[in-house]
Amino acid sequence: MSSSSSSSSSSSLPTQTLKIGIVGFGTFGQFLAKTMIKQGHTTRATSRTDYSQLCHQLDVPFFRDVIPFLEADNDVILICTSILSLSEVLNSMPLRRLKRHTLFVDVLSVKEHPRNVLLQVLPENMDVLCTHPMFGPESGKNRWKDLPLVYEKVRVRDETRCSSFLHIFESEGCRMVEMSCEEHDKVAARSQFLSHSIGRILAEMGIESTSMNTKSFETLVKLKESTTNDSFDLFSGLFIHNRFAQQELMNLEQSFEKVKQRLLKKMSEQQSLSSV
Ligand code: NAP
Repeated sequence: MSSSSSSSSSSSLPTQTLKIGIVGFGTFGQFLAKTMIKQGHTTRATSRTDYSQLCHQLDVPFFRDVIPFLEADNDVILICTSILSLSEVLNSMPLRRLKRHTLFVDVLSVKEHPRNVLLQVLPENMDVLCTHPMFGPESGKNRWKDLPLVYEKVRVRDETRCSSFLHIFESEGCRMVEMSCEEHDKVAARSQFLSHSIGRILAEMGIESTSMNTKSFETLVKLKESTTNDSFDLFSGLFIHNRFAQQELMNLEQSFEKVKQRLLKKMSEQQSLSSV
């Protein structure tokens, strides 16, 4: 880790240039890597798919074999795999090959699950920071200003290194939200999971833009498009690995039924009025 002169806005600790090893170089891993590289951090990647060519263009060393990746000198190992594959990916990594104390960071869209898995599989001397950037390649395409970064310092002993990592987001203008993984999942089930579910329902209905869109309908079309741009693995991960999501799905179903019953009741009242 090499020191630089800037300092973190959330603490007086100096920030450092980091060597960041990315596990899972799909859409989101690539998206994050671009900003890290722009900021002068060193990145390297490993993934199930062979991204050698793409990595060559980005000047990011790509490791097909996870052992040299783990043995490389990483300050941070950044987990960007799908929610569904997290356990399989971490359990398949020979973590004893790690040469030094490392900060493990995840960016999964659920938080209790990666916190539990990381604490279970990692050696005790590894630090753990759980994060959720509440934006993606579309919403964060031009800039990250004011976009939320939710995080919990689950097991952090090296504060300078952790603060240097968080500074990547701070320096882009993100709104830094420190919150427990449990609280994140509670809130996300009622916001992110709900909006993804409604987007998927709208896609199932096949809604399309019309020549007479209202502003509200345009919002629905955009919601459908943005949620279906994300993989179905991501959406199902939001449900399977967030213990609060099932209740929200039931709430959605019950509320739909209530609204439907109110409409049917009103229709029957109107019909009996007009038949007098
Ligand atoms: P994703 O479909 O959730 O995850 C794709 C990544 O998971 C790829 O790197 C893929 O590897 C890896 N993967 C999937 N199944 C695997 C398996 N069986 N074994 C090994 N690796 C596997 O799509 P994503 O959008 O890139 O998201 C990555 C992570 O970031 C997710 O945890 C998501 O919740 C989180 N996140 C995404 C966004 C967003 O806007 N997209 C925002 C915030 C957080 P290969 O590419 O090598 O196949």
